Amino acid sequence: MQYPQNLERLFAFLRRLPGVGRRTAERYAFDLLLGWSKQEINGLIASLEALDTISCCQVCGCLKDSKECLFCSSHNRTKEQLCIVASPREVFTIEQTGEFRGVYHVISGLLSPLDGRGREEIGLDKLTARLREGVIREVIVALDSSLEGDTTALFLKEQLAHFAVTVSRLAFGIPVGSALEYVDGGTLARAFSARNTY
Ligand SMILES: [Zn+2]
Repeated sequence: MQYPQNLERLFAFLRRLPGVGRRTAERYAFDLLLGWSKQEINGLIASLEALDTISCCQVCGCLKDSKECLFCSSHNRTKEQLCIVASPREVFTIEQTGEFRGVYHVISGLLSPLDGRGREEIGLDKLTARLREGVIREVIVALDSSLEGDTTALFLKEQLAHFAVTVSRLAFGIPVGSALEYVDGGTLARAFSARNTY
């Protein structure tokens, strides 16, 4: 089967999206081609081009548009609490909980010796520069519960020991709404060691 070349090109781009295989890419492409109006297509093109206006804040690494960073410039957030995450996207996940009103620091990924990502690559200098300003009192490490996440959290704990800050890591435990019998052994073991009085 021979599709027009430009349609094949669109399939290839769509397949780069997570969870999109060949058939889904074809379905999306045909929907765009046959189901969307010229005006809608132009709107999509304009929003893709406008991605150029989004960049990472030089201070915290969060996403910002062409204006200043909403987190760094906010007067309603405490500058004494700093939450460390590994991706700008995770900032939005935490924001959705409404639990945190401090500021963020996005490190450049997790330590991964197998992929050659070492301590220089995660951008520690920017983090220590912020801590040296002396405003931050508490650091919350919000990293994945994985080998890389654990390794990075341990490394950060060692590095942060040089500063007068309290350091904590997000708790691990039983997912909300789940029954104990379905919780895997590793999660249950961590929930036991991180148990709280109540
Ligand atoms: Zn910022």
